Amino acid sequence: MTIFKKLESNVQSYARSFPVVFDRAEGAALYDTNGKRYIDFLAGAGTLNYGHNNPECKSALLDYIAGDGITHGLDMHTRAKAEFLEAFQQHILKPRNMNYKFQFTGPTGTNAVEAAMKLARKVTGRQNIIAFTNGFHGVSLGAAAATGNQHHRGGCGVSLGGVTRIPYDGYMGGLDSVQLLDKMLNDASSGVDAPAAVIVETVQGEGGLNVAGQRWLKSLEAVCRRHGMLLIVDDIQAGCGRTGTFFSFEQMGVSPDIVTLSKSLSGFGLPFAIVLMKPEYDRWAPGEHNGTFRGNNHAFITAKAAIDAYWRDDTFAREVQRKGGILSNRLARIASLGGSNVFRAKGRGMMQGIACDNGELAGKIVRRCFEDGLVIETSGPDSEVVKILCPLVISDEDLNAGLDILERSVRHVLTEELSMAA
Ligand SMILES: *Cc1c(COP(=O)(O)O)cnc(C)c1O
Repeated sequence: MTIFKKLESNVQSYARSFPVVFDRAEGAALYDTNGKRYIDFLAGAGTLNYGHNNPECKSALLDYIAGDGITHGLDMHTRAKAEFLEAFQQHILKPRNMNYKFQFTGPTGTNAVEAAMKLARKVTGRQNIIAFTNGFHGVSLGAAAATGNQHHRGGCGVSLGGVTRIPYDGYMGGLDSVQLLDKMLNDASSGVDAPAAVIVETVQGEGGLNVAGQRWLKSLEAVCRRHGMLLIVDDIQAGCGRTGTFFSFEQMGVSPDIVTLSKSLSGFGLPFAIVLMKPEYDRWAPGEHNGTFRGNNHAFITAKAAIDAYWRDDTFAREVQRKGGILSNRLARIASLGGSNVFRAKGRGMMQGIACDNGELAGKIVRRCFEDGLVIETSGPDSEVVKILCPLVISDEDLNAGLDILERSVRHVLTEELSMAA
């Protein structure tokens, strides 16, 4: 512990919530250096959809390394890249009738967002981008401008421009913010410059599990078409199966112009990010968005292994939907323990949680969970949403055991609050 205190910057965050030293991990389980087992409901903030050390990904990667496969190759053509592209085209895009070109960006989600925003500006010749309240798109300057969170924005130390923010679906009760946007874009004196693009999450991960409805998303897409702006779906957290389909927007009947993917894309927790763009928008000049680590060949291998193992048919997607149903049922019951003025279940698919009356309450719940062997975090503007992001491959046994811990923790904290109030 002391080595971290002594040497590691104050900037660390998750480490503060889980003050142990982790050593090994497998599937949905983490082990600390004392051998204590934790069920992982954080899963790398949604990076480990296929579990820690997923066996299919691991054996493919071990074989590749043993065979001296290319590890680093800038953006040069490699066998590993060709096989990833073929698998993604064959099993993800083709069955969904989607037609996209791939851009391999730097390996973080933030870098994919930067590339997507730059591309939209380049294609349209416009600067402004529409983003939403409580959206999270990363913390480098361009992406942070689209991110709502004050804490992250404040860390940039310069003014963040080029983005107009409007309310997300449901932010103002019945207010239809897409209608508002349409009206403002039709008004030459509204003060909103013609946008290059809209960037949106279908479920806001960091923003507190706010869910966009199908009608809202479809009308957002229609407004994009009407005003000549591109629709960017940031599917970095909600994609790769999290909501019960590979892309989170599949059931919504919208066709984004640009999609960003990262987090679980490699299938193994390796850094890897891509931008998918409709072919007509591929207006990049060679090397215009550059980077030394574009296209992580180890990630190509594991991402292909994950596609082969989970996305050749809809068996896995149906499993995710079934487990999403377990989550909905149990979270509704747990939320009812405190009553509707204290708790509210929210989210979609295997991206659900409980919004608490305040961040302090949520903090107490997740700390108690950790003592009881469950790694789980909060999200939302006041860190008030207890968020479940367990691996999609989690067994029913571990899923229910983790939910049992959560339920016990909620009961414990409620009893404590009551006795304090008395
Ligand atoms: C995590 C996340 C990002 C940023 O990805 P990094 O890899 O942390 O840079 C961007 N958008 C969304 C929706 C995310 O959840």
